[in-house]
Amino acid sequence: MALKLFNSLTRAVQTFAPLDPAGKKVGLYCCGPTVYDFAHIGNWRTFVFADLVRRTLAFSGYEVKHVMNITDVEDKIIQRVRENKTTLREFTGKFETAFLDDLKALNCQAPHVTPRATGHMAEIIALIEKLVARGVAYQATDGSVYFSIEKYRGCGCTYGQLQKLNFDEMRVGERVSTDEYEKEAVADFALWKARVPDDGDVFWPSPFGEGRPGWHIECSAMSIKALGETFDLHLGGEDLKFPHHEDEIAQSEGATGKPFVKFWLHGAHLLVEGKKMSKRLGNYFTLRDLIAKGFTGREVRYLLLTAHYRETFNFTLEGLAGAKSALARIDECVGKLRELAAIPKSEVQSPKSNDALIEKFTAALAEDLNISAAWASVFEWVREMNKRLAENSLSPAEAASALTAWDKINSVLGIGTTAEAEAPADILALAEARTTAKLAKDFKRADTIRDELKAKGWIIADSPKGPKLKKI
Ligand code: AMP
Ligand code: ZN
Repeated sequence: MALKLFNSLTRAVQTFAPLDPAGKKVGLYCCGPTVYDFAHIGNWRTFVFADLVRRTLAFSGYEVKHVMNITDVEDKIIQRVRENKTTLREFTGKFETAFLDDLKALNCQAPHVTPRATGHMAEIIALIEKLVARGVAYQATDGSVYFSIEKYRGCGCTYGQLQKLNFDEMRVGERVSTDEYEKEAVADFALWKARVPDDGDVFWPSPFGEGRPGWHIECSAMSIKALGETFDLHLGGEDLKFPHHEDEIAQSEGATGKPFVKFWLHGAHLLVEGKKMSKRLGNYFTLRDLIAKGFTGREVRYLLLTAHYRETFNFTLEGLAGAKSALARIDECVGKLRELAAIPKSEVQSPKSNDALIEKFTAALAEDLNISAAWASVFEWVREMNKRLAENSLSPAEAASALTAWDKINSVLGIGTTAEAEAPADILALAEARTTAKLAKDFKRADTIRDELKAKGWIIADSPKGPKLKKI
């Protein structure tokens, strides 16, 4: 089933087709964290959304290369390094590690490449040199290098591909040196910022003099390096459309003369208890804050995955408590299916409800990641499975096939099941081998396997419903 996605570039839902002539490989770039603090729940909404896109592409049969940069030098970071009287690497390293740990706690698949801006100075400088050589960037009297919107537009290029901009209010040559600037404040933006005393030790040599890169050019340089001059998908939160993504397009297309990205996907923002998150309002949560309140990464992930990515999501602690009970319903059903499936199988057949689950789930995701419909198919299946389990009308083989269907769905949702219920594949294979040995009355082998399981930290006990695995 063809996957359709809303492309911010065309402002329409379009059928996704990769640039790869073989139709297999997909390049995906998501703007990563600015490592000056712990990522908050709003940031996590965007990164869980990126994980959903990646997993959906893999589910649809594509081979994804997922790149997510680490912004480890920009205005806010420099300010904090100065305030904390520390070094850039020491300061950003701590938050980068925390970010990657949190990413794991939310069961987001690790990106294949996580380039750091500070590790790509040569590429960044080369890109700026290209822009200067092409006449769309210039060095100002303050020593900084700026991107000229006027020159860029003069070459027939479009500035304002993602957002309509008001050029009438633009005063030619007006410049902004900060990385984040007013919506629609069309002005030349900094590619290379000349060293100033406030930068402390944070500077690099370059043909334009000592200084540091602007935030926007970092993403252009790292994405082009990892995925090529034109690639398939670029993601981020909606706040990044302007100026960050607009500037990324201008820099990249200005330097290469080629279209930068085929599909731009933007996730809507998250509010907390109906309000924009702020430390002052006390509605600002990092993942760590929520874990300290007794919630799990899995529950947070589930909740973030309940809303469509293009809709503003209102995050509440009550909603998070609801996530606990929704997951418990799934766990209970999957747990019972596991118990039943562990009973020696006689026949192999698949209940129709599994086909319906896969079909409905696939169709829902293909419609611009219609996650509500996808969850509806999951809970409909849970109801049906519970009914069949209660009626005793499900055979062990049917339960095993239901679990195979669930694993497929779960490869996209990534919510797993509770740790107690989850035995790794090698342990399940050993349990299965023990059952086979027992059926063949090879009790010596069955006992050896039981000892092997014990050595690996699992106890297997026989119950009227079949063997049960328990972690020691
Ligand atoms: P930053 O670390 O500030 O560069 O942000 C990382 C990502 O989080 C970006 O893609 C932002 O668009 C996204 N983001 C920031 N605030 C929110 C929010 N409240 N809701 C959803 N995404 C957000
Ligand atoms: Zn970016």
